[in-house]
Amino acid sequence: MSFCCGAGMLGSFGTLRHFKTLLHNVPILYCPVCNRIEVHHAIEGEYEILVEYAQGDNAPEVDFSEFVNIEQMPELFENCTMTDEGNYEDVLKQQIDIALDLLGVATQLDDQEWRSALKDRLKKLSERLRLHIKRNQEISRSA
Ligand SMILES: [Zn+2]
Repeated sequence: MSFCCGAGMLGSFGTLRHFKTLLHNVPILYCPVCNRIEVHHAIEGEYEILVEYAQGDNAPEVDFSEFVNIEQMPELFENCTMTDEGNYEDVLKQQIDIALDLLGVATQLDDQEWRSALKDRLKKLSERLRLHIKRNQEISRSA
């Protein structure tokens, strides 16, 4: 599992921009705390080849899944929490639970620095959860 800000990064598929080209369906990892996104290490080589191809071709948009058979990579997200819109809320709650557990440990150890880092993480995670729930409510209200 990859970590960022001490939180587990989530596996997903996303659209990335490389100069003027949009690349769709790229396997990525992202951090639920700071929203940092990185290309999944397992497909970094393929990603670079596709980027080069798209640049050479001046393609405004390419679809990663059309060039690389992602289904033949079952181990891709084996070590990280897979997410999609459906369970994003659960994933956030899970990350909050982990942070709360760690906060208990940090309190026992009286580790001030770790405590404040964890409190900061909890604040960001709960803010994201609040926004996510609010957005879902707005969607169901307008539907
Ligand atoms: Zn982060």
